[in-house]
Amino acid sequence: MCGVFGAFSLSGRPVLEDVYLGLYALQHRGQESAGVAWIDNEDHIRTRKGLGLVHLALNQADLATIPARSAIGHVRYSTSGESYVANAQPLVVHYRGGGIALAHNGNLVNAEKLRGDLEDRGSIFSTTTDSEVIANLIARNYSLGYQEAIVKALEKVEGAYALVITCEDKLIGVRDPYGLRPLCLGKFADGGYILASESVAFDVVGAEFVRDIEKGEMIVIDGSGVHSYTYSSSKERAICSFEYVYFARPDTTMDGRNIYESRREAGKILAKEHPVDADLVIAVPDSGKSAAIGYAQQSGIPFGIGLIKNKYMGRTFIQPNQKMRELAVRLKLNVLKANVEGKRLVLIDDSIVRGTTSRRIVDMLKAAGAKEVHVRVSSPPVTHSCFFGIDTPSRKQLVAATHSIEQIKEMIHADSLGFISAEGLVESVGLGDNALCKACFTGHYPMPIPLKTIPHVAEKN
Ligand code: SF4
Repeated sequence: MCGVFGAFSLSGRPVLEDVYLGLYALQHRGQESAGVAWIDNEDHIRTRKGLGLVHLALNQADLATIPARSAIGHVRYSTSGESYVANAQPLVVHYRGGGIALAHNGNLVNAEKLRGDLEDRGSIFSTTTDSEVIANLIARNYSLGYQEAIVKALEKVEGAYALVITCEDKLIGVRDPYGLRPLCLGKFADGGYILASESVAFDVVGAEFVRDIEKGEMIVIDGSGVHSYTYSSSKERAICSFEYVYFARPDTTMDGRNIYESRREAGKILAKEHPVDADLVIAVPDSGKSAAIGYAQQSGIPFGIGLIKNKYMGRTFIQPNQKMRELAVRLKLNVLKANVEGKRLVLIDDSIVRGTTSRRIVDMLKAAGAKEVHVRVSSPPVTHSCFFGIDTPSRKQLVAATHSIEQIKEMIHADSLGFISAEGLVESVGLGDNALCKACFTGHYPMPIPLKTIPHVAEKN
């Protein structure tokens, strides 16, 4: 769960301010750190990085003065590696005669082994991220040329990745062989190009969406335009279904499907699968809102505001530890008492992961006078950990892995509880059953997960 962005100008126009603005639009994908990298006039790779939100980590005015025609950027939420500035991306790796800068969204399942092998052969790592493993593998093979070096590196890595890379006055984008993590291509009006995790980042810089990068595809952008290469075609598509449930912004269109439409459809399906007699449909803001609108449209129950969000808070699910998450809920949400008092509510949330946030919200609503709170969830129960860059590290922490739906209902103090079915979610996304990764709902991972990577197995061993 990170955001990547890259820009290349064909006219020579500086692009670093565009990268800054693009990262701003991708801020929801990571708030721990932000960074940019570019190649200067003397072919040296330069970076600026900092902790926190984009506007705190980077100086827009400073970046606007730098004459870089190719640059990349990253906003980070850590699922591997600690949360300090050395782990902020882009990462830079030098090799004889040059260097590359790389920004990565995703997670490798074999990073630990690869890292050990590289260290045995003399590589020294300056971060604790698995992204540096990819950068190192590329640098090791650089004598083969950048394209071959990247392909050789990717042959070794297993997992999820959307990469943007700058080297040799080129901007390169790569999407993993399953298409787990998103990446798309946009075009500036003056002929330059952009790569970004979400199409929403194009709007802010006045660029237009061209297309999604395909699974197993590498895009190379240089002075002669865009070149596409398929480096892997043997895997089935497995786009992360959680992008449609929660991660992506509603105004993004991803792999041909608008996120708002997908969520609204999920709300409609949820209303058909779990109807209830109630006075008002409310959402856990902001990510439950689109599904709540769909639920209201399908059920005929009016949609209203029941919870007010402090806009200046980050997203609770992506705060790195439980203590921060609990504090974040209290700071983030408050009840609109006048709207909920004496009412039977349908409360729409996008997911229940640990259950603690849901219980706190139900309690707040009841304390404010709600007569009944019926919780409806627009994703199926999360029963398995994600190993592809989303922070659900241990099954023990997933309430649906260890409790029945009835038990969860009791635990969160709801009057009733219903989750959308896996089939319903697939239908709402509309890309077909085979196009999606649903491993956190089903336990069927698109690739083998090394036992050492699975926390409860690693603990036993
Ligand atoms: S396991 Fe779940 S969160 Fe992880 S990539 Fe698959 S669908 Fe997305």
